[in-house]
Amino acid sequence: MLRFRNTLSGKVEEFHPMNEGEVRFYYCGPTVWEYGHIGNFRSAVAADIVRRYLKFKGYKVTHVMNITDVEDRIIAKSQEAGLSIDDYTAKYIDALWEDFDALGCERPEIVPRATRHIPEMVSLIEKLLETNHAYASDGSIYYRIASFPEYGKLSKINFAGNIAGASERIDTDKYEKEDARDFALWKEPANENEPAWDTAIGRGRPGWHIECSAMSMKYLGETFDIHAGGIDLVFPHHENEIAQSEGATGKQFVRYWIHFEHLKVEGETMSKSKGNYYTYRDLKAKGYSAAGIRYFLLSVPYNKQINLNFDVLAGAEKTVAGLRDFRARLNEAKTEPGMNEALHDIALRAAEEFEAGMDDDLNTSVALAVVHNLSREVNTALARKKVKEENKQELLELLKRIDTVLNIFGAESNEMLDSEIQSLIDERQEARRRRDFHRSDEIRDELASRGIILEDTKDGVRWRR
Ligand code: AMP
Ligand code: ZN
Repeated sequence: MLRFRNTLSGKVEEFHPMNEGEVRFYYCGPTVWEYGHIGNFRSAVAADIVRRYLKFKGYKVTHVMNITDVEDRIIAKSQEAGLSIDDYTAKYIDALWEDFDALGCERPEIVPRATRHIPEMVSLIEKLLETNHAYASDGSIYYRIASFPEYGKLSKINFAGNIAGASERIDTDKYEKEDARDFALWKEPANENEPAWDTAIGRGRPGWHIECSAMSMKYLGETFDIHAGGIDLVFPHHENEIAQSEGATGKQFVRYWIHFEHLKVEGETMSKSKGNYYTYRDLKAKGYSAAGIRYFLLSVPYNKQINLNFDVLAGAEKTVAGLRDFRARLNEAKTEPGMNEALHDIALRAAEEFEAGMDDDLNTSVALAVVHNLSREVNTALARKKVKEENKQELLELLKRIDTVLNIFGAESNEMLDSEIQSLIDERQEARRRRDFHRSDEIRDELASRGIILEDTKDGVRWRR
C-alpha cells in the first residue's frame, strides 16, 4: 500500500484516490522567465517519480503541470527585450521541454499556460467577489484573508496577530489593502506599456496564485487527489490556492499535498534571485550527462534536502554507467535453458523490496539500493555462468519494470551489445584502411549517439560506454 507524507495532516498517510483506479495530480510548474535551474528540476524529477510510481501501481494518472508565463519578472524582461510575452517566453518554453525530456521526465497529460486561461481566472475572481472573499481597491482586487478562518491550515502558521496588527493600519489609511496579509488576485497595470487584459473585472493581469486554482480545478475538478510542488510553495502560494479554491467552492480543494525539499548549494537554496544556480545546460557543458544528473537527483529521497556536490555528481555518472554495463552484459549473456532457483528467489525478493521502498513515502534511495544489490548478485552469477535462460528473461523484465519508475537505464533499443560495437569498430578500421573517412566518421558518430566513446590509441581502438 502506497503511503506518503501529506503536508495537510503532517502525517504519513495511506493513499486512497477519490475514484478507484484513477489519480488526478497537479504539479506547480516553472515560471518561464529564464532557463530552469537544476533545483527546479529536482522538483520536476520528484514529480515525475510520483507520476511514474502511481502508474506502476496501476492507476490511470491525469497529471497537470502549469506554466507560469505572466508575472513581474517576465513582464520586466520581455519589456527590456522589446518583445511580447509570447515571443519572450517561447525560447524558455522550448528549452524547458528539451531539458525535461533529456532528464527523462514523462510529459504530463495537460500543460496549461496562465496566459491562455485568463477567462477562467476572471470567473473565479468574480465568484470570490460575490461571496465576499475578495474586494476591489484602487483598481486591483485582493483576497480577504479574514473571510477564510482556516487560512494557515497547510503551513500551520498562526495569522491572528498579523490580522489584528493590520487592522490598525487600515485606520491610518496608508494601505490600499484591508489587511497586510491580503494578496492580489488581479493587478491594475502600473502603466500603459504593461501587458493587460480587458475583462469584466477591469483591465489588468492576474496575480500569481489565482492561476493554479483556476487551472487545476478546470482540468481536475473542484476536489482532486494530489497537489505537489517545492517546499517553498507551502506558504504563501499553496495556502493562497486553498483560500481561493475553497472560498469559491465551499469544498475541500486537495486531498493530499506533497512538498519536495530543496536542492542546496553550499548550504543555501539554489535560486535565481541568489544567483547561485546552475541550469541543466551549465552542467551538461561541464561534461555531466542527463542520466548521471537524474541518478544524482534520485539518490536522495524527495523529503530530504540534496546538496549539489560535483564529486557526488561525478560518482553518479560512474554509477549509472556501471548499471547500464550490467544490463548490457546480462542482455548478451549466452545462457543455457532452464531456471536457477536461487537466482529466481533473488529476483522475487528484489521486486518486493523495490515496491516496499517506494510504497514507504516514495523512498528512491532504497529503490536504488535494491537495484545495486541485484546488479551485484547477478554480476557474480554471470561470472560463474549461473544465469539460465529463464533467469535472464525474468531479470531483464524486472529491470524494465523498475525502470518504468526510475528511468535510469534508458531505452534498451539504444543499447548496443559488445559484439555489435566490436563489429562496427572493425568496419570502421576497414573503412579507414580504404581511406573512406566519410564512412569511418559516420560509424564514430553513430556509436557516439548511442553512448559509445572511441579512443584511438597506439595499441588500437579502445571503447567505453
Ligand atoms: P519556479 O520556476 O520558481 O516557479 O519553480 C518551479 C518549481 O521548482 C516549483 O515547484 C518550485 O517549488 C521548485 N523549486 C524552486 N527552487 C527549487 C530548489 N532549489 N530545489 C527544489 N525545487 C525548487
Ligand atoms: Zn502553483
